[in-house]
Amino acid sequence: MKKVLLSFLCLSALFLTGCTDKKEVKTHLQEIIERGYIIAAVKTDSKPFGFINKKTGENEGFDIDIAKIIANDILGSERKIKFVPVTTSQKIEAITSGQVDIVIATFTITPQRQYLVDFSKPYYIAGQSVVVKNNSDIYNFSDLKNKKTIVVLGSTAEQNIRRILPMARLSGYKNYEEAFAALKSGQADALSTDNTIISGFLMDNKGYRMIKNRITQEPYAVGMKRNENDESLKKAVNITINKIQKDGTLIKLRKKWHVN
Ligand code: GLU
Repeated sequence: MKKVLLSFLCLSALFLTGCTDKKEVKTHLQEIIERGYIIAAVKTDSKPFGFINKKTGENEGFDIDIAKIIANDILGSERKIKFVPVTTSQKIEAITSGQVDIVIATFTITPQRQYLVDFSKPYYIAGQSVVVKNNSDIYNFSDLKNKKTIVVLGSTAEQNIRRILPMARLSGYKNYEEAFAALKSGQADALSTDNTIISGFLMDNKGYRMIKNRITQEPYAVGMKRNENDESLKKAVNITINKIQKDGTLIKLRKKWHVN
């Protein structure tokens, strides 16, 4: 009798493990919903898109507001989100390593980046420009030829200047705090990045101006893991972006953060 019972137990164990082995494959979206919060990589050095409010210590900005709306749409609360700070050059790895679900961080769609990560629809179009001291003789990109120009490493600005002005003397920094500090202490003649990030600097710093040219269009989008077999998260994010485009939220956010 004992033997019969034992083999019955073994058989049912086999059957059960057999069943549990056939694990249901969860989509990325289901994983986030089950976890109960979404993990978003954001900037902390790129006012007014992503920065830390010094009084409250909270993440704030245009990108932060969009990330909260995405969290609310997926999980029912804008508080169901964990922010992970990233610098320019950390954005792609944050996605490919699986550290975060989404990157919403002044992240320009480029063909090279599309090999590595997937992008939502764009929600804002920025453009690359240059900031200089008021009394500078730089008015155009071509004026940068013999000048020392600051860029943040890994940015589209760095790549574009290397391509367009191969003779430019570039100095690379790892984030915008260090890059703007170097400009202020006179270590270079100019700094090149998105007009949005330059506007944020101009909000807090007198004595500087942005040149009129924009040499690129920088479509900002939400970055996430590439997976042709699971576009659940991308679909959800695109639904949110379509909605905020249609219902006027994006326009309100532009007003709130003073971006054109
Ligand atoms: N939008 C540009 C980029 O994605 C610059 C912004 C940044 O440095 O994070 O490279």
